Amino acid sequence: MDFDAFFKEQLDEIREDGRYRVFTDIKRHRGSFPHATRFVDDETQAVTVWCSNDYLGMGQHPVVLEAMHNVLDECGAGAGGTRNISGTNHYHVELERELADLHGKEAALLFTSGYVSNWAGLGTLASKIPGCVVFSDALNHASMIEGIRHSRAPYKIWNHSDVDDLDCKLSDFGPDVPKLVAFESVYSMDGDIAPIAEILDVCEKHGAMTYIDEVHAVGLYGPRGGGVAEREGLMDRITVIEGTLGKAFGVMGGYIAGSADLVDFVRSFASGFIFSTALPPAVAAGAAASIRHLKNSDAEREQQRERVAEVRRKLDMLGIPHLPNPSHIIPVMVGDAKKCKMISDWLMDNHGIYVQPINYPTVPVGTERLRLTPSPVHDDGDTDRLIHALSDIWSQCELARGSIAA
Ligand SMILES: *Cc1c(COP(=O)(O)O)cnc(C)c1O
Repeated sequence: MDFDAFFKEQLDEIREDGRYRVFTDIKRHRGSFPHATRFVDDETQAVTVWCSNDYLGMGQHPVVLEAMHNVLDECGAGAGGTRNISGTNHYHVELERELADLHGKEAALLFTSGYVSNWAGLGTLASKIPGCVVFSDALNHASMIEGIRHSRAPYKIWNHSDVDDLDCKLSDFGPDVPKLVAFESVYSMDGDIAPIAEILDVCEKHGAMTYIDEVHAVGLYGPRGGGVAEREGLMDRITVIEGTLGKAFGVMGGYIAGSADLVDFVRSFASGFIFSTALPPAVAAGAAASIRHLKNSDAEREQQRERVAEVRRKLDMLGIPHLPNPSHIIPVMVGDAKKCKMISDWLMDNHGIYVQPINYPTVPVGTERLRLTPSPVHDDGDTDRLIHALSDIWSQCELARGSIAA
């Protein structure tokens, strides 16, 4: 077989579909992020990033950087092994304690990413609990879907955030069938928030275990940054809380938090945990510093909420359509893949504004969008430049103005 010919053919296919991904090559500037330098065709361009998941700018926070510098010098670069074979550094242990405390749980377990934590966490629970049936929200993240599929446990997909449908699907199985319900709190593309209390009511009625992905909420919601479940006083009713250290906490890694026995169980049976090198100690220390800071400081969260509200208000004044939602994510709706890409290119080339177009298959055809994530590190000048540029291109392309109903 001509392998390269096969690869090329497949790539040509996604290119024709407009699904081929081109990465934007940037250097983020510590101390002045969201400002960055873009590298393109042997040239550079100053850009402002408006689509980062470093939601609070913690990736450049002095407290985080100091912790990372110190531990890099103290412990060296890598962990030097899997957790079982010499790789458990004291900074991992401290971070797991910090995470358990954040979510009011007995224990927490670190993974190399949020993706791996979902894949290994759900995969292990669903495959090892005898007869387990999984109930997965229709819009769950790829990492949860892959974990559930990998488990080979039977699964049912319930309509997105539809509590009646979940109740109905759970009712198809008797009380003796172990049930695992998996969902997210903040859904990252529409920015909607799940009705967590109602979901928990239904799960409790059926004796189901609950697994929530708070990846887009940890650090951002709740008085200590514990997520939407913390804000709503629901953490103790949820079996497993999963999160990332790579988004609002600004570093990298993922985790689950739950009872001591559940966490010990996943620690003891999850291949994706056991057979992988532990995170660098400096990364663990940086994440712990970030979490600790956000447990005690509301300033970043407040500034983010203000910035988000301001961008929404200005978009409304200009009639630029965006999905209303109760979160920090602003989906500016374009509704056409080519236009979405074209607008994104135009913003970059003419104004150094970097907003990645979000097209199919990440979102359904016809709902193509620019996903804005205003943060405390965007200033008034950044915001004004964004708004004026958007207004300009909306006029040039004769795009529809007016608000959009949810
Ligand atoms: C980004 C994301 C993940 C994966 O987290 P990483 O730490 O980036 O691997 C998991 N769930 C959701 C909903 C996400 O958006």
